[in-house]
Amino acid sequence: MTDTHDKLNLLEFDMKKMQNFFADLGEKAFRASQVTQWIHQHGIDDISNMTNLSKDLRARVSEIAEVSVPKIVADQQSTDGTRKWLMQLDDGNSVEAVFIPEDDRGTLCISSQVGCTLNCSFCHTAQQGFNRNLSAAEIIAQLWVARRALGWVRNDDRIISNVVFMGMGEPLLNFDNVITAVNIMKDDMAYGLSKRRITISTSGVVPMMTQLKELSDVSLAVSLHATDDELRNELVPINNKYPIRELLDACWEYVADEPRRMVTFEYVMLDGINDSDLHARQLLQLLQGMPAKVNLIPFNPFEGTRYKRSSNNRINRFRDILMEAGLVTITRRTRGDDIDAACGQLAGNVNDRTRRSIRINRAAGG
Ligand code: SAH
Repeated sequence: MTDTHDKLNLLEFDMKKMQNFFADLGEKAFRASQVTQWIHQHGIDDISNMTNLSKDLRARVSEIAEVSVPKIVADQQSTDGTRKWLMQLDDGNSVEAVFIPEDDRGTLCISSQVGCTLNCSFCHTAQQGFNRNLSAAEIIAQLWVARRALGWVRNDDRIISNVVFMGMGEPLLNFDNVITAVNIMKDDMAYGLSKRRITISTSGVVPMMTQLKELSDVSLAVSLHATDDELRNELVPINNKYPIRELLDACWEYVADEPRRMVTFEYVMLDGINDSDLHARQLLQLLQGMPAKVNLIPFNPFEGTRYKRSSNNRINRFRDILMEAGLVTITRRTRGDDIDAACGQLAGNVNDRTRRSIRINRAAGG
Protein backbone atom coordinates (compact mmCIF):
# COMPACT_ATOMS: atom_id res chain seq x y z
CA MET A 1 0.00 0.00 0.00
CA THR A 2 2.39 2.67 -1.19
CA ASP A 3 1.72 4.32 -4.50
CA THR A 4 -1.71 2.77 -4.87
CA HIS A 5 -3.65 4.81 -2.38
CA ASP A 6 -5.60 6.89 -4.81
CA LYS A 7 -6.88 3.87 -6.72
CA LEU A 8 -10.40 2.59 -6.29
CA ASN A 9 -10.65 -0.63 -4.31
CA LEU A 10 -12.79 -3.14 -6.20
CA LEU A 11 -13.68 -4.78 -2.88
CA GLU A 12 -15.88 -1.72 -2.24
CA PHE A 13 -18.30 -2.73 -4.99
CA ASP A 14 -21.42 -4.83 -4.80
CA MET A 15 -22.82 -5.91 -8.18
CA LYS A 16 -24.66 -2.67 -8.82
CA LYS A 17 -21.62 -0.53 -8.06
CA MET A 18 -19.40 -2.85 -10.10
CA GLN A 19 -21.79 -2.49 -13.06
CA ASN A 20 -21.67 1.29 -12.73
CA PHE A 21 -17.90 1.11 -12.66
CA PHE A 22 -17.81 -0.81 -15.95
CA ALA A 23 -20.54 1.32 -17.50
CA ASP A 24 -18.32 4.36 -16.83
CA LEU A 25 -15.56 2.57 -18.73
CA GLY A 26 -17.97 1.99 -21.62
CA GLU A 27 -18.04 -1.75 -20.92
CA LYS A 28 -20.96 -4.18 -20.80
CA ALA A 29 -22.59 -5.26 -17.53
CA PHE A 30 -21.33 -8.86 -17.74
CA ARG A 31 -17.82 -7.58 -17.03
CA ALA A 32 -19.04 -6.85 -13.52
CA SER A 33 -20.03 -10.50 -13.03
CA GLN A 34 -16.71 -11.72 -14.40
CA VAL A 35 -14.64 -9.53 -12.13
CA THR A 36 -16.84 -10.26 -9.12
CA GLN A 37 -16.32 -13.98 -9.71
CA TRP A 38 -12.57 -13.59 -10.03
CA ILE A 39 -12.35 -11.68 -6.79
CA HIS A 40 -14.87 -13.40 -4.58
CA GLN A 41 -15.07 -16.93 -5.97
CA HIS A 42 -11.52 -17.50 -7.16
CA GLY A 43 -9.71 -15.27 -4.66
CA ILE A 44 -7.81 -13.38 -7.34
CA ASP A 45 -6.49 -10.03 -6.19
CA ASP A 46 -4.23 -9.35 -9.18
CA ILE A 47 -6.22 -7.81 -12.01
CA SER A 48 -3.68 -8.97 -14.58
CA ASN A 49 -4.68 -12.57 -13.76
CA MET A 50 -8.33 -12.05 -14.73
CA THR A 51 -7.83 -13.86 -18.00
CA ASN A 52 -11.30 -13.64 -19.52
CA LEU A 53 -10.84 -9.88 -19.78
CA SER A 54 -8.83 -8.61 -22.74
CA LYS A 55 -5.29 -7.49 -21.99
CA ASP A 56 -6.30 -3.98 -22.91
CA LEU A 57 -9.22 -3.95 -20.50
CA ARG A 58 -7.09 -5.41 -17.69
CA ALA A 59 -4.60 -2.62 -18.22
CA ARG A 60 -7.29 0.06 -18.21
CA VAL A 61 -8.85 -1.31 -15.02
CA SER A 62 -5.47 -1.65 -13.30
CA GLU A 63 -4.69 1.95 -13.99
CA ILE A 64 -7.55 3.20 -11.87
CA ALA A 65 -8.43 0.30 -9.58
CA GLU A 66 -7.00 -2.51 -7.50
CA VAL A 67 -8.03 -5.24 -5.09
CA SER A 68 -6.59 -4.07 -1.81
CA VAL A 69 -6.75 -6.51 1.07
CA PRO A 70 -5.74 -5.92 4.69
CA LYS A 71 -2.66 -7.77 5.86
CA ILE A 72 -3.04 -10.58 8.38
CA VAL A 73 -0.76 -9.75 11.29
CA ALA A 74 -1.78 -12.59 13.61
CA ASP A 75 -3.41 -15.96 12.97
CA GLN A 76 -4.31 -17.98 16.06
CA GLN A 77 -5.95 -21.36 16.35
CA SER A 78 -7.80 -22.52 19.44
CA THR A 79 -7.67 -26.08 20.73
CA ASP A 80 -11.34 -26.36 19.73
CA GLY A 81 -10.66 -25.43 16.09
CA THR A 82 -11.77 -21.83 16.36
CA ARG A 83 -9.46 -19.56 14.42
CA LYS A 84 -8.89 -15.86 14.83
CA TRP A 85 -7.23 -13.41 12.47
CA LEU A 86 -5.98 -9.96 13.33
CA MET A 87 -6.06 -7.76 10.25
CA GLN A 88 -4.08 -4.61 9.89
CA LEU A 89 -5.92 -1.71 8.24
CA ASP A 90 -3.96 0.91 6.40
CA ASP A 91 -4.32 3.57 9.10
CA GLY A 92 -2.69 1.63 11.95
CA ASN A 93 -5.94 0.27 13.34
CA SER A 94 -6.70 -3.42 13.28
CA VAL A 95 -9.75 -5.62 13.62
CA GLU A 96 -10.41 -9.26 14.36
CA ALA A 97 -12.50 -11.89 12.65
CA VAL A 98 -13.20 -15.35 14.05
CA PHE A 99 -14.04 -18.65 12.32
CA ILE A 100 -16.05 -21.14 14.35
CA PRO A 101 -16.31 -24.61 12.81
CA GLU A 102 -19.20 -26.83 13.88
CA ASP A 103 -20.47 -30.19 12.67
CA ASP A 104 -23.12 -28.83 10.35
CA ARG A 105 -21.79 -25.36 9.57
CA GLY A 106 -18.88 -22.96 9.66
CA THR A 107 -19.57 -19.52 11.03
CA LEU A 108 -17.44 -16.46 10.43
CA CYS A 109 -17.86 -13.71 13.00
CA ILE A 110 -16.90 -10.32 11.59
CA SER A 111 -16.50 -6.74 12.75
CA SER A 112 -18.25 -3.64 11.41
CA GLN A 113 -16.40 -0.85 13.23
CA VAL A 114 -13.00 -0.16 14.75
CA GLY A 115 -14.07 -0.21 18.38
CA CYS A 116 -17.60 0.72 19.36
CA THR A 117 -19.45 3.78 20.65
CA LEU A 118 -22.03 2.00 22.74
CA ASN A 119 -20.17 1.27 25.95
CA CYS A 120 -21.97 -1.87 27.07
CA SER A 121 -20.66 -2.45 30.56
CA PHE A 122 -19.85 -6.17 30.11
CA CYS A 123 -18.16 -5.95 26.69
CA HIS A 124 -14.42 -5.84 26.18
CA THR A 125 -14.67 -3.98 22.87
CA ALA A 126 -16.28 -1.08 24.75
CA GLN A 127 -13.11 -0.61 26.75
CA GLN A 128 -11.19 0.06 23.55
CA GLY A 129 -13.17 3.16 22.67
CA PHE A 130 -14.11 3.99 19.10
CA ASN A 131 -12.13 5.08 16.08
CA ARG A 132 -14.20 4.80 12.92
CA ASN A 133 -16.53 2.82 10.73
CA LEU A 134 -15.09 0.10 8.54
CA SER A 135 -15.50 0.61 4.80
CA ALA A 136 -17.54 -1.92 2.83
CA ALA A 137 -14.21 -3.19 1.45
CA GLU A 138 -12.82 -3.73 4.94
CA ILE A 139 -15.95 -5.60 5.98
CA ILE A 140 -16.08 -7.95 2.99
CA ALA A 141 -12.29 -8.32 3.13
CA GLN A 142 -12.70 -10.20 6.42
CA LEU A 143 -14.65 -12.88 4.55
CA TRP A 144 -12.23 -12.79 1.62
CA VAL A 145 -9.19 -13.16 3.87
CA ALA A 146 -10.79 -15.93 5.92
CA ARG A 147 -11.68 -17.82 2.74
CA ARG A 148 -8.12 -17.49 1.55
CA ALA A 149 -6.71 -18.67 4.86
CA LEU A 150 -9.07 -21.67 4.92
CA GLY A 151 -8.38 -22.50 1.30
CA TRP A 152 -10.64 -21.40 -1.56
CA VAL A 153 -13.13 -24.14 -2.20
CA ARG A 154 -15.78 -24.69 -4.81
CA ASN A 155 -18.95 -22.81 -4.16
CA ASP A 156 -21.04 -25.87 -3.44
CA ASP A 157 -18.89 -27.19 -0.64
CA ARG A 158 -17.97 -23.94 1.00
CA ILE A 159 -16.51 -24.06 4.46
CA ILE A 160 -17.89 -20.74 5.60
CA SER A 161 -21.64 -21.28 5.50
CA ASN A 162 -22.74 -18.52 7.88
CA VAL A 163 -21.65 -14.99 8.63
CA VAL A 164 -22.57 -13.13 11.80
CA PHE A 165 -21.94 -9.45 12.53
CA MET A 166 -21.02 -10.18 16.12
CA GLY A 167 -17.45 -8.97 16.20
CA MET A 168 -16.42 -5.45 17.06
CA GLY A 169 -18.84 -2.61 16.54
CA GLU A 170 -22.53 -1.93 16.08
CA PRO A 171 -23.44 -2.86 12.50
CA LEU A 172 -26.57 -0.73 12.37
CA LEU A 173 -24.48 2.38 13.11
CA ASN A 174 -22.45 1.66 9.96
CA PHE A 175 -25.50 0.93 7.93
CA ASP A 176 -24.62 1.70 4.30
CA ASN A 177 -21.29 -0.09 4.35
CA VAL A 178 -22.78 -3.11 6.10
CA ILE A 179 -25.57 -3.33 3.52
CA THR A 180 -23.08 -3.14 0.64
CA ALA A 181 -21.02 -5.93 2.20
CA VAL A 182 -24.17 -8.01 2.80
CA ASN A 183 -25.13 -7.56 -0.87
CA ILE A 184 -21.78 -9.05 -1.87
CA MET A 185 -22.19 -11.96 0.56
CA LYS A 186 -25.60 -12.79 -0.90
CA ASP A 187 -24.66 -12.40 -4.56
CA ASP A 188 -24.51 -15.68 -6.48
CA MET A 189 -21.57 -14.31 -8.45
CA ALA A 190 -19.75 -13.78 -5.15
CA TYR A 191 -20.38 -15.86 -2.02
CA GLY A 192 -24.01 -16.85 -2.63
CA LEU A 193 -24.88 -17.01 1.06
CA SER A 194 -28.57 -17.30 1.78
CA LYS A 195 -30.14 -14.39 3.62
CA ARG A 196 -30.97 -16.64 6.57
CA ARG A 197 -27.30 -17.48 7.02
CA ILE A 198 -26.28 -13.87 7.44
CA THR A 199 -27.07 -12.44 10.86
CA ILE A 200 -26.88 -8.83 11.92
CA SER A 201 -26.65 -8.46 15.67
CA THR A 202 -27.74 -5.15 17.15
CA SER A 203 -27.82 -3.66 20.60
CA GLY A 204 -31.11 -2.09 19.56
CA VAL A 205 -30.68 0.90 17.26
CA VAL A 206 -34.42 1.08 16.73
CA PRO A 207 -34.73 3.47 13.74
CA MET A 208 -32.16 1.48 11.77
CA MET A 209 -34.04 -1.75 12.44
CA THR A 210 -36.93 -0.29 10.45
CA GLN A 211 -34.55 0.65 7.64
CA LEU A 212 -32.99 -2.78 7.70
CA LYS A 213 -36.37 -4.34 7.04
CA GLU A 214 -36.84 -2.05 4.05
CA LEU A 215 -33.41 -2.62 2.53
CA SER A 216 -32.43 -6.14 3.42
CA ASP A 217 -33.82 -9.43 4.53
CA VAL A 218 -31.09 -10.91 6.68
CA SER A 219 -31.56 -12.60 10.03
CA LEU A 220 -31.76 -10.29 13.00
CA ALA A 221 -30.29 -10.87 16.44
CA VAL A 222 -30.96 -8.47 19.28
CA SER A 223 -28.76 -8.07 22.34
CA LEU A 224 -31.41 -7.89 25.02
CA HIS A 225 -29.54 -8.97 28.19
CA ALA A 226 -32.07 -7.57 30.65
CA THR A 227 -35.80 -7.65 31.26
CA ASP A 228 -36.35 -4.21 32.75
CA ASP A 229 -35.20 -0.77 31.64
CA GLU A 230 -33.37 0.04 34.82
CA LEU A 231 -30.96 -2.86 34.45
CA ARG A 232 -30.74 -2.59 30.67
CA ASN A 233 -29.86 1.10 30.92
CA GLU A 234 -26.86 0.02 32.91
CA LEU A 235 -25.80 -2.97 30.79
CA VAL A 236 -26.63 -1.61 27.34
CA PRO A 237 -26.68 2.18 27.68
CA ILE A 238 -28.33 2.78 24.31
CA ASN A 239 -31.43 1.57 26.14
CA ASN A 240 -31.69 5.06 27.61
CA LYS A 241 -32.48 6.24 24.10
CA TYR A 242 -34.48 3.25 22.85
CA PRO A 243 -36.07 1.46 25.80
CA ILE A 244 -37.20 -2.16 25.83
CA ARG A 245 -40.79 -1.47 24.75
CA GLU A 246 -39.68 0.40 21.63
CA LEU A 247 -37.06 -2.23 20.91
CA LEU A 248 -39.59 -5.05 21.08
CA ASP A 249 -42.03 -3.09 18.90
CA ALA A 250 -39.28 -2.83 16.29
CA CYS A 251 -38.74 -6.60 16.55
CA TRP A 252 -42.45 -7.22 16.00
CA GLU A 253 -42.23 -4.99 12.97
CA TYR A 254 -39.24 -6.92 11.64
CA VAL A 255 -41.12 -10.22 11.65
CA ALA A 256 -44.46 -8.78 10.45
CA ASP A 257 -45.65 -10.29 7.13
CA GLU A 258 -42.62 -12.60 7.08
CA PRO A 259 -44.02 -15.97 8.13
CA ARG A 260 -40.66 -17.75 8.33
CA ARG A 261 -38.75 -15.03 10.08
CA MET A 262 -37.66 -15.13 13.72
CA VAL A 263 -35.71 -12.80 15.94
CA THR A 264 -32.86 -14.23 17.97
CA PHE A 265 -32.48 -12.63 21.38
CA GLU A 266 -29.02 -12.71 22.88
CA TYR A 267 -28.85 -12.79 26.62
CA VAL A 268 -25.51 -12.72 28.40
CA MET A 269 -25.53 -14.69 31.65
CA LEU A 270 -24.11 -12.52 34.43
CA ASP A 271 -23.87 -14.07 37.86
CA GLY A 272 -26.33 -12.50 40.29
CA ILE A 273 -27.24 -9.70 37.88
CA ASN A 274 -29.76 -10.94 35.31
CA ASP A 275 -29.86 -14.72 35.78
CA SER A 276 -32.56 -15.49 38.37
CA ASP A 277 -35.71 -17.56 37.85
CA LEU A 278 -37.67 -14.34 38.05
CA HIS A 279 -35.64 -12.86 35.20
CA ALA A 280 -36.38 -15.94 33.10
CA ARG A 281 -40.11 -15.58 33.73
CA GLN A 282 -39.97 -11.87 32.90
CA LEU A 283 -38.17 -12.72 29.68
CA LEU A 284 -40.95 -15.14 28.77
CA GLN A 285 -43.49 -12.45 29.36
CA LEU A 286 -41.64 -9.91 27.21
CA LEU A 287 -41.32 -12.30 24.28
CA GLN A 288 -44.77 -13.82 24.58
CA GLY A 289 -46.19 -14.73 21.18
CA MET A 290 -43.24 -13.47 19.18
CA PRO A 291 -41.53 -15.79 16.68
CA ALA A 292 -38.32 -15.76 18.65
CA LYS A 293 -35.53 -17.85 20.00
CA VAL A 294 -33.09 -17.13 22.77
CA ASN A 295 -29.35 -17.48 22.76
CA LEU A 296 -27.90 -17.60 26.25
CA ILE A 297 -24.28 -16.46 26.21
CA PRO A 298 -22.19 -17.42 29.23
CA PHE A 299 -20.35 -14.22 30.12
CA ASN A 300 -16.76 -14.17 28.90
CA PRO A 301 -14.64 -12.37 31.45
CA PHE A 302 -11.78 -10.01 30.66
CA GLU A 303 -9.29 -8.17 32.78
CA GLY A 304 -10.77 -5.51 35.00
CA THR A 305 -14.40 -6.56 34.62
CA ARG A 306 -16.69 -6.48 37.65
CA TYR A 307 -18.94 -9.26 36.32
CA LYS A 308 -18.80 -13.01 36.75
CA ARG A 309 -20.17 -15.78 34.59
CA SER A 310 -23.29 -17.53 35.91
CA SER A 311 -22.73 -21.12 37.00
CA ASN A 312 -23.62 -23.91 34.60
CA ASN A 313 -26.41 -24.98 36.93
CA ARG A 314 -27.90 -21.53 36.88
CA ILE A 315 -27.67 -21.29 33.09
CA ASN A 316 -29.30 -24.71 32.70
CA ARG A 317 -32.09 -23.81 35.09
CA PHE A 318 -32.68 -20.51 33.29
CA ARG A 319 -32.81 -22.33 29.96
CA ASP A 320 -35.19 -24.98 31.31
CA ILE A 321 -37.67 -22.34 32.44
CA LEU A 322 -37.73 -20.86 28.96
CA MET A 323 -37.85 -24.24 27.22
CA GLU A 324 -40.65 -25.56 29.39
CA ALA A 325 -42.71 -22.60 28.29
CA GLY A 326 -42.01 -23.49 24.66
CA LEU A 327 -39.39 -20.85 23.89
CA VAL A 328 -36.52 -22.32 21.88
CA THR A 329 -33.36 -21.60 23.86
CA ILE A 330 -29.79 -22.44 23.05
CA THR A 331 -26.82 -21.95 25.30
CA ARG A 332 -24.02 -20.70 23.13
CA ARG A 333 -21.00 -22.87 23.68
CA THR A 334 -17.99 -20.85 24.65
CA ARG A 335 -15.61 -21.21 21.78
CA GLY A 336 -12.06 -20.07 21.37
CA ASP A 337 -11.70 -18.48 24.77
CA ASP A 338 -8.10 -19.70 25.00
CA ILE A 339 -7.27 -17.27 22.20
CA ASP A 340 -9.63 -14.49 23.37
CA ALA A 341 -11.93 -15.17 20.47
CA ALA A 342 -15.16 -15.61 22.42
CA CYS A 343 -18.10 -13.17 22.38
CA GLY A 344 -17.16 -9.76 23.67
CA GLN A 345 -13.46 -10.58 23.83
CA LEU A 346 -12.51 -9.21 20.44
CA ALA A 347 -10.35 -6.19 20.78
CA GLY A 348 -8.07 -5.62 17.84
CA ASN A 349 -6.13 -2.44 18.11
CA VAL A 350 -8.16 0.73 18.27
CA ASN A 351 -6.51 4.08 18.06
CA ASP A 352 -9.23 5.55 20.19
CA ARG A 353 -10.48 8.91 19.10
CA THR A 354 -13.52 9.26 21.35
CA ARG A 355 -11.69 9.03 24.62
CA ARG A 356 -8.90 11.21 23.38
CA SER A 357 -11.38 13.89 22.36
CA ILE A 358 -13.10 13.61 25.71
CA ARG A 359 -9.75 14.05 27.42
CA ILE A 360 -8.95 17.04 25.25
CA ASN A 361 -12.34 18.56 26.02
CA ARG A 362 -11.80 18.02 29.68
CA ALA A 363 -8.36 19.58 29.58
CA ALA A 364 -9.89 22.53 27.80
CA GLY A 365 -12.55 22.77 30.48
CA GLY A 366 -15.19 21.44 28.02
N1 SAH B 1 -22.98 -4.48 18.68
C1 SAH B 1 -23.66 -5.68 18.33
C2 SAH B 1 -22.77 -6.84 17.93
C3 SAH B 1 -21.51 -7.10 18.74
S1 SAH B 1 -21.43 -8.16 20.12
C4 SAH B 1 -24.57 -6.09 19.46
O1 SAH B 1 -24.53 -5.48 20.52
O2 SAH B 1 -25.38 -6.98 19.28
C5 SAH B 1 -22.08 -9.74 19.84
C6 SAH B 1 -22.72 -10.29 21.11
O3 SAH B 1 -21.75 -10.57 22.15
C7 SAH B 1 -23.70 -9.30 21.72
O4 SAH B 1 -24.87 -9.93 22.11
C8 SAH B 1 -22.93 -8.80 22.92
O5 SAH B 1 -23.79 -8.24 23.87
C9 SAH B 1 -22.24 -10.06 23.37
N2 SAH B 1 -21.14 -9.82 24.32
C10 SAH B 1 -20.40 -8.70 24.45
N3 SAH B 1 -19.49 -8.85 25.43
C11 SAH B 1 -19.65 -10.09 25.93
C12 SAH B 1 -18.98 -10.83 26.95
N4 SAH B 1 -17.96 -10.31 27.64
N5 SAH B 1 -19.40 -12.09 27.20
C13 SAH B 1 -20.40 -12.62 26.47
N6 SAH B 1 -21.06 -11.98 25.49
C14 SAH B 1 -20.70 -10.71 25.23
